Amino acid sequence: MRNPNNAPAFCKSDFEFGKLLGRGAVGRVWLVREKRLGRILALKCMRKRDILRYSSPAVLRRELCVHSTLRHRNVLRLYNWFSDSDNIYLLLEYAPGGDLFALHRPVSEPRARKLVAQTVEALAFCHSRGIAHRDLKLENILLGADGNVRLADFGWSAKDTQRRTTLCGTLDYLAPELATQKPHTRAVDAWALGVLAFELLVGRAPFTAPGRKETLQRITACTYTIPQSVSPLARQFLSSLLQTDPAKRMSLADARRHPWILKPSDSIQSKENSSPKD
Ligand code: AMP
Repeated sequence: MRNPNNAPAFCKSDFEFGKLLGRGAVGRVWLVREKRLGRILALKCMRKRDILRYSSPAVLRRELCVHSTLRHRNVLRLYNWFSDSDNIYLLLEYAPGGDLFALHRPVSEPRARKLVAQTVEALAFCHSRGIAHRDLKLENILLGADGNVRLADFGWSAKDTQRRTTLCGTLDYLAPELATQKPHTRAVDAWALGVLAFELLVGRAPFTAPGRKETLQRITACTYTIPQSVSPLARQFLSSLLQTDPAKRMSLADARRHPWILKPSDSIQSKENSSPKD
């Protein structure tokens, strides 16, 4: 598998390995130091045999091609990749803040607003490049060295020029059109953004039920309740995104200028992608 721009190939011995940062479905992510330049990076190691079992080389190639072209302050950088006989390695920006799943939830409303506003920026950027992410969830949002959002994991991403039918994503975040296996568009990302904002504000996912079937039923019926602790503007933001009909669902362009996102008290901080502290 060729790396971007045919850049000089790396090998595993070019790095000093530090701590294990996490495990995913197809690999482990290590903190590494590049011996030559001293750069601190995250190295995602995926076994080729696991890729064949859980995914496919074609899917991975598409992910790498998509991800390596995306340059935005709220999108995790993929710098390069290389392989040996057993593994494929991705050289990623190190995100020292870890992923949003690790946050104690619910988070304060200003903090939720900042994280959601930056996620909207990342998604809007991907959409402007014709790419739907299709697997937005807390685990796929990391926090960079500056404390700001880095959207990661483009394994399910797709060029969204046409309507697609592949079932993809994670159960709790599935949009109704995906749950009912109808063709879908980039609007699935707006639905998932609503689920993500709900999880940050409420501390649990909106549609989760004891069983898969019941969760799918709740999603398709759009059955959820927002606790009174959530402010009226935030409720309005959530209900505009959690619309069964994709045509009635708030677009990312409208999410960006929603009054909850632009609320004066902390809008400057959200817009500037600045300090992690609220
Ligand atoms: P993944 O295999 O991409 O799902 O990653 C598994 C876990 O490793 C994530 O949930 C993160 O906690 C951690 N992780 C992945 N990539 C990075 C990174 N670039 N920087 C820091 N932690 C990461």
